[in-house]
Amino acid sequence: MPELAEVEYYRKQWEPSRGEPVARVLAHPKARIYRESPASAVVRALEGRTFLGGRAHGKQLLFEFSEGAWLGMHLGMSGRLFAAPPDRVPEKSDHLALVTPQRCLVFSDYRMFGKVTVEIVGPDGTPGSQPPAEGATPSLPPSWWQELPPEVLSPGFTKERVAAFAKRRAKTPLKTLLLDQRHFPGIGNWMADEICWRLRIDPRRPAGTLDESAQASLWRALRRVSREALRIIGTDWSDPPDSWLMNHRWRDGGICPRPKCHAPLVREDLRGRTTCRCPGCQR
Ligand SMILES: [Zn+2]
Repeated sequence: MPELAEVEYYRKQWEPSRGEPVARVLAHPKARIYRESPASAVVRALEGRTFLGGRAHGKQLLFEFSEGAWLGMHLGMSGRLFAAPPDRVPEKSDHLALVTPQRCLVFSDYRMFGKVTVEIVGPDGTPGSQPPAEGATPSLPPSWWQELPPEVLSPGFTKERVAAFAKRRAKTPLKTLLLDQRHFPGIGNWMADEICWRLRIDPRRPAGTLDESAQASLWRALRRVSREALRIIGTDWSDPPDSWLMNHRWRDGGICPRPKCHAPLVREDLRGRTTCRCPGCQR
């Protein structure tokens, strides 16, 4: 499932088309990704508008088009974005394709847990059915976007916030807490395991048992793993170094990469998510 860095990587795939008009929008009308905004509404909202670029926030994506049109997107389990030549014929799981003079911008999702929404936003930020007038001030993003919690790498994501979440959800296993998108946008399964492993904390440990210094370490690890993942995976989908847990967690017979530990890793279910931990160094 795409997490913060993978989502950022996908966002970039459409960027070369910034400033290009969308001549045609191809959509599979019955695809489940249109469960909130019907395919016909997406086609109507985007066809003929200019693509102005995208932004990522945790696992959420938002693409801007001229005249106040916004395409929101969640990649779900298997969604991916790529750019293809403009004459591409959409394949079975290419549920949305925006055709510009230079490229075909594709949202492909074979499992269809992803979704898209469209909104036309007036210049004052209110949803409007009428596009803003020519020459009007640029429109604000839709309200749902403006209400997203602070990103892990933003100044609003403070140690105090992390400490408050851990206190409020004191009985929740730390790993489960880290997956809560209302608190930790963009953190997914592998990143949560990586963070617990770096902290040498058992992912099953109740969040409320972290003392002040462990809360501060958690805040630092969240930021460090996010920053490094964005740099390595978010840039060109490179593999993280072998010193990360990530490269060993899915391997049968995986061994803890921490020097002087090398204990066999354990994979087990934790509240419905496969979790990898090292019994040797995570207490
Ligand atoms: Zn270990």
